[in-house]
Amino acid sequence: MAQISVFKADLPDNISFKGQVAIDTETMGLNLLRDRLCLVQLSDEQGNAYLVQIIKGVDCPNLKKVLTDKNILKIFHFARFDVAKILNDLNVMVQPVYCTKIASKLSRTSCPSHSLKSLCYDLLGVSLEKEQQTSDWGSEELSPAQQQYAANDVLYLHQLKEKLDRLLQREGRYELAMECFSFLGTRAKLDLLSFNEPDIFNH
Ligand code: MN
Repeated sequence: MAQISVFKADLPDNISFKGQVAIDTETMGLNLLRDRLCLVQLSDEQGNAYLVQIIKGVDCPNLKKVLTDKNILKIFHFARFDVAKILNDLNVMVQPVYCTKIASKLSRTSCPSHSLKSLCYDLLGVSLEKEQQTSDWGSEELSPAQQQYAANDVLYLHQLKEKLDRLLQREGRYELAMECFSFLGTRAKLDLLSFNEPDIFNH
């Protein structure tokens, strides 16, 4: 049975990941420079979720070790935001990275939506609740509903990656996807320097 564990400030010493880990973050809002990082959620392939409440001024060496471990692939949905937020608040560059949103955009061009909710429904037949999305993630104690929501955002990413990898291969866009994932660190740095609006890649 999958479990949700909540930790303050850092992962405990006795938790380790191998191969790949699904990651998401919750913040005080969607403004990268204004809104602080509140929560980092991680999930292994066994379906366990680990929620780490980030405390300003308290370091998180165990979490940072996972985020920067070159032998552990970090799977995100919309990695662009999370990688930038983590770089800004924790001062580490997450790598290597996989993004299910980019994978979907490259391989599922007939689909109008590439939200996590749509991907879970279309590829896994799972209906995700999104009610807690705008709740107070800065709260010292997370409610059971918040914990479940935060966990749900990482619990399906491993399965989604498996499906999306096959679609990318089928459409001949697997290599292109990997190149996009490699660029995400640079994209994050550009976003933090406000080179996103207007985007420097636009005319
Ligand atoms: Mn989330």
